Amino acid sequence: MNAPARAPLMALDQALAALLERATPLAGTETVPTFDAAARVLAQDLVSALQVPPNDNASMDGYAVRTADVTAAGAVLPVSQRIPAGHAGEPLKPGTCARIFTGAPLPAGADAVVMQEDTREVGGDLHAVHIDAVPAPGQWVRRAGEDVTRGAVVLARGQRLDEAALGLAASLGLAQLPVARRPRVALFSTGDELVMPGEVPPEAMKPGAIYNSNRFFLRALLQRFGCEVSDLGIVPDRREATLAALKTAADHHDLILTSGGVSVGEEDHIKPAVQQLGGLDLWQIAMKPGKPFAYGHVRRDPGVPGAAPGDCHFIGLPGNPVSSYVTFLLLVRPFLLKLQGVSDPAALRLPPAMALRADFAVPRADKRREFLRVRRNAQGGLDLFPNQSSGVLTSTVWADGLVDNPAGTTIAPGDTVSFIALSDLLA
Ligand code: AMP
Ligand code: MG
Repeated sequence: MNAPARAPLMALDQALAALLERATPLAGTETVPTFDAAARVLAQDLVSALQVPPNDNASMDGYAVRTADVTAAGAVLPVSQRIPAGHAGEPLKPGTCARIFTGAPLPAGADAVVMQEDTREVGGDLHAVHIDAVPAPGQWVRRAGEDVTRGAVVLARGQRLDEAALGLAASLGLAQLPVARRPRVALFSTGDELVMPGEVPPEAMKPGAIYNSNRFFLRALLQRFGCEVSDLGIVPDRREATLAALKTAADHHDLILTSGGVSVGEEDHIKPAVQQLGGLDLWQIAMKPGKPFAYGHVRRDPGVPGAAPGDCHFIGLPGNPVSSYVTFLLLVRPFLLKLQGVSDPAALRLPPAMALRADFAVPRADKRREFLRVRRNAQGGLDLFPNQSSGVLTSTVWADGLVDNPAGTTIAPGDTVSFIALSDLLA
């Protein structure tokens, strides 16, 4: 069951590929209000039933004209109508102009808008205006359909909905959106040293006790990536209780996610329990932070009413908070996206790295590929958080990105390194 201590380490890319292979998209979709669809994944292509914008319209406040009527600066045109946004005007009489406001449809016959700043009222009233600039056809006009053409696939199945995508869907008149169902995830923490904030005040903590921090960021990360989370707390440190907790969780969840207790040689209750109820592979991933990582499955009891068929996925993250955080972003995030039907390989790979200058040194090479916590500075370079220990969560809060440093590589100030923005990993 345990990987031998000297087993060769697995490359991160290989671990990611193996995980994605196991992440079969979940069956089941639902329709949700567009208002509530942020961070969900589209289950169908969205095809536009209309063009956006629906008509040619003004992109400035000013006067709609026929350009043929304004061949020289200083032309004077009577104002034959007034068209606010939301109102359709009459066809524009030749030799006249229409007072028009941003977003108002262009009247038939008009082919340009002269902005207000390029006009003067004649005699101080609004019956006629001097046009002080010669408009080019199409000037200050937004063309019908320039954003979206009728029948276009505007957002594709498998696309994750960010705020801009929700706006675009709403611009097509869609109040409801078909989305993949949320993965149901059971979250456990392991470790007898863990105490929940609020249960024991800092001054009363026993020696060796620490607060459970992983539970807080893992729950929030799961929610960020569209999951329905059952937070099952700290799993009791007894064999029978662990077996029972895993079994019950498996029947009603797609994934059981735990943190802690997956280091080589550690004897805890999670590993043998998962092994007994399904299967477990311990992967020693050649990355820092985050070496120990477990993937497995827990069989569901087909006799339980409401239980899903098949197996429940199991992922065991390392206990060290930074390792847990980073392995979540690099491995669990794409796993969850694929479960929800994200299929674009670019969305499932590591985000593209930027080539940036290191304003720091890493004089000692590590045997493992390292993800250093760094922050961009005002000089366009990168600063390194001084303490890169996998227990130091401060580094992760301070950082705005990770330097993806290949195994066996030192860094000298001025070197170009690969920077992955944390905002890309959280998107
Ligand atoms: P483990 O992977 O269980 O050997 O844990 C490695 C380190 O991470 C130990 O120092 C644990 O105390 C710490 N740790 C494990 N789980 C958590 C947690 N939920 N919150 C904070 N630290 C943890
Ligand atoms: Mg532990």
